[in-house]
Amino acid sequence: MKIETLAVHAGESDDDTYGALTPPIYLSTSFMRDADGGYSRGHIYSRASNPNRDALEQCLASLEGGAAAVAFSSGMGAISAFFETLSPGDHVIAPADAYYGTGVVLREIFARWGLDVGFVDLTDHAAVESAVTPKTKVIWVETPTNPMLRIVDVERIAAIAHAAGAICACDNTFATPVLQRPFELGADLVMHSTTKYLGGHSDLLGGALVVREDGELLESIRKVQIHMGAVPSAFDCWLALRGVKTLPYRMRAHSEGGARVAGWLAAHPAVERVLYPGLADHPAHEVARRQMKLFGGMISFFVRGGREEAMRIASRARLFSRATSLGGVHSLIEHRASIEAPGSRTPENLLRLSIGLEHPDDLIDDLQQAMEERIGTID
Ligand SMILES: *Cc1c(COP(=O)(O)O)cnc(C)c1O
Repeated sequence: MKIETLAVHAGESDDDTYGALTPPIYLSTSFMRDADGGYSRGHIYSRASNPNRDALEQCLASLEGGAAAVAFSSGMGAISAFFETLSPGDHVIAPADAYYGTGVVLREIFARWGLDVGFVDLTDHAAVESAVTPKTKVIWVETPTNPMLRIVDVERIAAIAHAAGAICACDNTFATPVLQRPFELGADLVMHSTTKYLGGHSDLLGGALVVREDGELLESIRKVQIHMGAVPSAFDCWLALRGVKTLPYRMRAHSEGGARVAGWLAAHPAVERVLYPGLADHPAHEVARRQMKLFGGMISFFVRGGREEAMRIASRARLFSRATSLGGVHSLIEHRASIEAPGSRTPENLLRLSIGLEHPDDLIDDLQQAMEERIGTID
């Protein structure tokens, strides 16, 4: 079935009690045994499993075309759970411009537990090849990256990983399975922050790991989920499953708005440069065209005039909300360097946009008025 159909139906099961069309929320933490002491209905204790979590996991596995998904209480919970499956001395190659939180846990937490991490520009394939060691267990990919919108060739990186006997994991948060299919490109593991596009309404925190195949990797991730316990609540699972139902249509609208706004910004005199994989001048536009169906709703752009001008434009926005995160129905504008600091490498004149579901004309009008006053002040 097509992804629109899967998004509506995957993970659903009939409600035998009342015939409810949408699933009930099982808040119970504990489930009853049968008279003979067994658990024929499948659930014992909600840290180990819960009907709403099962439904979400089945749905996410189905959307990505994987064997199984394992849900967590946040995207960072999912990322941490994956690295907890590794052992001291294992080597990880991670993107030099990984999501800020990924960099923090690898540098400041997992390094202390003996994980050996090399941060590499994954668009430089020779650099990736020479970073591989006999102990390399995983190459962690993120594409498009946050906030530089770099595009990593997943097929190439997966091939390098496999040649080294390692796996390729892909943070697919920005693209979602609607725009990009990491398993079809050779990835072995897909990670999501369901907080973003999958949930889609800025009202839940969640994360997931999806595996391509049944086996040892799934078992060890499941063990970390159940015993380390960073599990999502039944309500957050319910919200995520509800959000996913409209994901394919939302991603089209986010992408349509993204393309419109990016094109408009690229022609604006107050803008130094726009980073959007759908623009022909993006350095990896050809790779993006190959591995993405549409280019999504995330845009970064460099403002002429530095940090002060970037802050000023953000402060004048009315329809765009000044807020972090992404992937919801509201359009957001954010000065990334000031939220990532200290240690951020994001340029001070960069603004990041998450294009929501408002009409692109209204979004462009808002940016126009926010940038207006500057036009006369620059030469
Ligand atoms: C937000 C995000 C994360 C972390 O997810 P949380 O749900 O905030 O913990 C990881 N990767 C990317 C690309 C993100 O945008």
